[in-house]
Amino acid sequence: MAKAYLGLGTNLGQKQENLEKAVDILKGHSEIQVLKVSSFYETDPVGYENQDKFLNAALVCETYLEPYELLDFIQQIEKELKRVREIRWGPRTIDVDILLYDSLQLLDDPRLIIPHPRMTEREFVLEPLAEITPKTVHPGTGKTIAFLLDELKRISKR
Ligand code: AMP
Repeated sequence: MAKAYLGLGTNLGQKQENLEKAVDILKGHSEIQVLKVSSFYETDPVGYENQDKFLNAALVCETYLEPYELLDFIQQIEKELKRVREIRWGPRTIDVDILLYDSLQLLDDPRLIIPHPRMTEREFVLEPLAEITPKTVHPGTGKTIAFLLDELKRISKR
């Protein structure tokens, strides 16, 4: 059984409800056990800025699904909650990313990169993740999530 850390984000419609629905669908899978869900964080859009604020969260689960099976399932959730994908980094009902999967590093296939390639640059990912698992080590850098968040906050204050 593996421990997987997921990041969730939404900025369309009933945002709190979107996150809750996604978490419920994950909880409903017989091979996924959700252990902990972070608080929901309201964050400013990054990349494409002419859009509504986001609501972000992170969760940790135990799962028997292999990484690609987990990716298929989270993409099914995105479809089910009718994600609109017209603009890259634009408005979306729900976005679910695999952030970490045990200490696995999968770097060769753009369809699935683990750890998630942009997680260390994004406060909206690290903040909720640090709430639920500050001491977990990010296998790419060898740094803990709390340390990465601290580092990012220091850089953004400069
Ligand atoms: P985005 O719209 O930024 O969430 O990107 C979605 C695309 O990223 C999908 O086509 C996935 O196949 C791909 N992808 C690569 N690595 C990951 C990951 N760790 N978690 C979720 N999607 C990923």
